[in-house]
Amino acid sequence: MSDSQLSQKSGPQLSPWLHQQLSTLLLRRGHAWLLQGPSGLGQYNLALELARAWLCENTTPAGACYQCASCHSVDVRSHPDLCVLMPETVALELDWPLDEKSQKEIDDKKRKPSKEIRVESAREMISFSQHTRSGGHTKVVLVYPAERMNHVTASAILKTLEEPPGECRFILASEAAHILLPTIRSRCQTHTMVWPDEQQALDWLVAQGLGSADAIATLRAAGGRPEDALVLANTGLKATQWSSFPLMVSRGQLAALADLTPAQAIDRLQKLCHDMLALHAGATPRFFEVADLQAVLGNTKGGSSASASAAGASVRTASSGAMYSLTQWAKDLMEAARTAQHTYNPGLMLEALMAQAQQALR
Ligand SMILES: [Zn+2]
Repeated sequence: MSDSQLSQKSGPQLSPWLHQQLSTLLLRRGHAWLLQGPSGLGQYNLALELARAWLCENTTPAGACYQCASCHSVDVRSHPDLCVLMPETVALELDWPLDEKSQKEIDDKKRKPSKEIRVESAREMISFSQHTRSGGHTKVVLVYPAERMNHVTASAILKTLEEPPGECRFILASEAAHILLPTIRSRCQTHTMVWPDEQQALDWLVAQGLGSADAIATLRAAGGRPEDALVLANTGLKATQWSSFPLMVSRGQLAALADLTPAQAIDRLQKLCHDMLALHAGATPRFFEVADLQAVLGNTKGGSSASASAAGASVRTASSGAMYSLTQWAKDLMEAARTAQHTYNPGLMLEALMAQAQQALR
């Protein structure tokens, strides 16, 4: 993520639904908060703004001032009273500095950036919590995504979380809180992330520079999660492309997966698979417009663009074979997702995924 994207999300531009949650959290006491919910709702941004407000020299009930030395230190990632625990891959993506030794090991290609929060970072956090604070009224530890602590790391922070020496507050932000150790969860007060309503999310996406058609399509593509929608838009997803995706896949057109990594391709195919299953089961699709999914049925059954009711009827008369092959496809995609990062030849994998998809949609 670039600096400009980050700065867009901070300050007065924090999205309205995050701002409301920030105000609520600032009224509450408690030294350890767990912000939980699915991805794309803004856990990280909310956690960072809460940390910033706790550390700010002129904080108000609405949040930090964005003017003082403390706010500036947060911006430049050098606040002495803020300790951020992240997997190295996430730290690099969000522009947080690694410690010198780790950075050197990675630069020298001695190892790859860690995808988990390393126990070494947890030990540094413990020593951070024992130092006197540099001047402000509190110290803050931010852990994101908290579910990336393995058991060793989680156990290491447990005692500090329970009885922080001196004034030290914790914010754990998680997109999968159910896999946290219960002992970690029970030591935190929980805040469940609030979903924005659709119009709020669309307004916010338009304010980030998206056209309204693209905002609608990417929000759908992201299952209603605005920050995930923005990520999709930043990777170049357009409304026309999303709308034609089901039909292109059913025709085996590899261009539908062009420029995607295998993991991204699998994610999109899983959404298509989910929605085709929903359509066959008579449920409401979540990621695509019904008409775009029905185009697939028209295509595979040789019909033209059938009306909604006619397509509905053809769905109901479809043999259980369609459900079976879609369910099988869902399983195959889950299996593929497990191996996607280790694939030897991404191009070949995309071709195989497309062949599998076309087969399942036939
Ligand atoms: Zn400030």
